[in-house]
Amino acid sequence: MLTLPAMHDPAALSNELHKYSELRGCAVTAWDSLTCPCGNETFTLFSDEIRGGAGAVCSACDEPQSLFDSADLMQDVEQHCCSCEHDHLYVMTAVACPDAIDLVRWRYIAGQCAECALVGVYVDWSVV
Ligand SMILES: [Zn+2]
Ligand SMILES: [Zn+2]
Repeated sequence: MLTLPAMHDPAALSNELHKYSELRGCAVTAWDSLTCPCGNETFTLFSDEIRGGAGAVCSACDEPQSLFDSADLMQDVEQHCCSCEHDHLYVMTAVACPDAIDLVRWRYIAGQCAECALVGVYVDWSVV
């Protein structure tokens, strides 16, 4: 089996976010790849599945980032990893901006495994 590190594929991440959020009925309107100030692009990803909120820790320099300034929401913090059990992910964050009627805003966070390249949406929550 090849053990080369997976290539970062932002297009695959944004495609997955679009598919997932359209199924949710609140399609993403803006998205962004997460990069650490040190320049690294892989992170370990944490979230609270019940309350929402997410944070990421840089795989290179251990600097934490609060995603959408939401890290304070987290109480039961769980770490995410790929189904291959690798836990370093390329991360893309996305928001769905509502129309005037539906004021619930969705936050979505997708990850791509840095080992096997599998892409998935790991976290979502809504903010009223
Ligand atoms: Zn860093
Ligand atoms: Zn994987």
